[in-house]
Amino acid sequence: MHKMSYFSKKIISWQKINGRNNLPWQAKSPYHVWISEIMLQQTQVKTVIPYFHKFIKSFPSIKSLAKSDLDKVLANWSGLGYYTRAKNIHRASKIIHQKFNGIIPNDYEQLIELPGIGESTAGALLSLAFDEPGIILDGNVKRVLLRFLGDKSPINHSRTQKELKKFAEDLLPKNNFRTYSQGIMDLGSMICTPINPSCENCPIQNQCRTSQLNLQNIIPVRVSKNQKKEKNINWLLIASRDKVLLKRNAKKGIWQNLWLFPEANSLNYDKFNLLEEKGSLPLIIHNLSHRKLSISTKKYFLKNKDRLPIDRRRFVWVNKKESVKMGIPKPVKTILENHL
Ligand code: SF4
Repeated sequence: MHKMSYFSKKIISWQKINGRNNLPWQAKSPYHVWISEIMLQQTQVKTVIPYFHKFIKSFPSIKSLAKSDLDKVLANWSGLGYYTRAKNIHRASKIIHQKFNGIIPNDYEQLIELPGIGESTAGALLSLAFDEPGIILDGNVKRVLLRFLGDKSPINHSRTQKELKKFAEDLLPKNNFRTYSQGIMDLGSMICTPINPSCENCPIQNQCRTSQLNLQNIIPVRVSKNQKKEKNINWLLIASRDKVLLKRNAKKGIWQNLWLFPEANSLNYDKFNLLEEKGSLPLIIHNLSHRKLSISTKKYFLKNKDRLPIDRRRFVWVNKKESVKMGIPKPVKTILENHL
């Protein structure tokens, strides 16, 4: 059998029997597929599922999402990380609502014009939502292709990405695009795993160069880029009865517009006289794709919160229950859960 048709035929027949066919966004509207694809960009399936259900419950349609406040969208995204994704979803929903009458276009050029939709997500939408030819090149797919080829090019180099895209185009079947795309992703996540791939259960083992050469521990090759930058953050957990003080983050960057604890330098020195120190919380290390955050938090108690003058446009006193409805990043959520 020709290598190209061998690959797609094997993947398609394997997916139908062994792949994941019960994911909550499958066989649903393109809207559901879109939201799931954005959530899955940096997050694993099992983490995404409860967030997906919650998000769709809050925003059952593109119209409801487009008409909603960004705050509500961020609140539904709280804990999932990479908040730019939520902001882009919100912006894109407005464009789809206004420009495309609330219908996601099944056109590659129009899709990649939308905020947050790159080449791979556009490919995923074409194939998974519309059953049309589309190339997905996420981490799982790239690993499968590099191993199938026995290719030692670094997986995180842009040149490798370009070559894989060409190869993936050549591999595309003539039909069954949805099953094929789902199949190659399932294979990467269930069988061709980063460590100890289960080659004996793999439908393409007969023609896989990596398996033939026993290079599973070598491929994919990853060259280390620059070390992550470190950033120190000093938060103040100021509690007054069951309430805690949060501040909206206006700074551009990872947590823009989310609610955080005030930083030590955001209160005037004389205000500290009102606070009773309650010690330090354990250091939190929070890893982002490009940065490592070391978060130190000091806890303070304030008898009467009204004695602390605050700018009400930027600060708010909330209890634990109220904080759940706000856009807060994971470290803030963790601290509130454990120390309030
Ligand atoms: S045979 Fe092994 S290494 Fe090759 S694609 Fe399958 S699981 Fe991956």
